[in-house]
Amino acid sequence: MMAEFRDELASDRGPVYLKLSHLPEESVTAPENILHSTERPTRGTFHAGRGHDYRTHDIEMHISEIGLCGGHSASGVRVDDHARATVPGLYAAGDLACVPHNYMIGAFVFGGLAGQDAAGQRAYAGDLPLEQLREAHELVYRPLRSPDGPPQTQVEYKLRRFVHDYVAPPKSGARLSLAVEHFVRMRTEIAGMGATTPHELMRCAEVSFIRDCAEMAARASLTRTESRWGLYHERTDHPRRDDQGWLHHLDLRKSASGAMEFTARPVEPYLVPVDEYAPAGGPSRHLGEVALGDGHVAAAPGVSRPPVRGGGAGRPAGGPVSSP
Ligand SMILES: Cc1cc2nc3c(=O)[nH]c(=O)nc-3n(C[C@H](O)[C@H](O)[C@H](O)COP(=O)(O)OP(=O)(O)OC[C@H]3O[C@@H](n4cnc5c(N)ncnc54)[C@H](O)[C@@H]3O)c2cc1C
Repeated sequence: MMAEFRDELASDRGPVYLKLSHLPEESVTAPENILHSTERPTRGTFHAGRGHDYRTHDIEMHISEIGLCGGHSASGVRVDDHARATVPGLYAAGDLACVPHNYMIGAFVFGGLAGQDAAGQRAYAGDLPLEQLREAHELVYRPLRSPDGPPQTQVEYKLRRFVHDYVAPPKSGARLSLAVEHFVRMRTEIAGMGATTPHELMRCAEVSFIRDCAEMAARASLTRTESRWGLYHERTDHPRRDDQGWLHHLDLRKSASGAMEFTARPVEPYLVPVDEYAPAGGPSRHLGEVALGDGHVAAAPGVSRPPVRGGGAGRPAGGPVSSP
């Protein structure tokens, strides 16, 4: 549906409108009550400000938040049935956790599971890792040292533009490789951001998290050399769905060298079979780091390894580098 929507927008028939003006009053009132109260009360005020009404005006529609949308379920921190993350003592629930079809009910259920399990654990009694504390302190307070550095608003805008221009679908190995290159380079820019107030400090810390997520999304999209989920992961250079190779979760972890590396984990058999999908099963495949397209170099500062190159010598951009 989103792909069709995108095609309409791109055609000379666009834009796309929500049209209710031809419907009887009760068919207009029902969605209006939900959209203007339960969902987003500001929406009614917004339309009223423009002098628009569903009874008299069609509403222009657009695609939003598609670039990095995890969808309240499709991505996030890997957890088990007790909401335990892979780091001992760490839990994740709600939008942060990767639980299929999570949404609000999933947030409540997994929040409860996490609380139950955590209540049965002993308090951590070891020493706190001082190096990690120092790094966290540095992340938060660093912008105070360069108050005249680039402001957060400008750096965040630039970062988001790269996400929009290079990671948002339709995706390609070339654009995703460029994205990774930009995100890696922006580490330096982000480290130089300036701030003077607690609010600005918070926003600066958020920019570094946005950068991390952007790089993870770009590298994951490069690794998945197929198209899936309609527009959401449409790779123009890998247009077919490949269930044999990719009806898999893509686990991302930080390697010992600090690089992002991937494992493809087969989807579990469905409790209720779905005709169109037959999970292939089998063992997980360790994929290692993803190769970038020709000419793209993206070694993260501080990562002690030569830059990864790919796309040449018969290896397409966006394939795994190693498969031990
Ligand atoms: C437009 C929209 C419509 C939706 N419609 C539905 C629906 O109809 N049905 C449904 O089930 N789900 C719906 N969802 C999804 C649902 O809202 C989320 O899955 C759910 O709210 C996730 O809960 P959460 O507690 O994990 O995260 P959140 O509700 O996002 O809560 C996280 C909280 O943490 C706070 N926070 C963030 N950073 C910090 C910090 N550094 N320090 C302190 N606090 C911090 C945030 O301000 C926020 O209050 C919708 C979501 C959206 C965006």
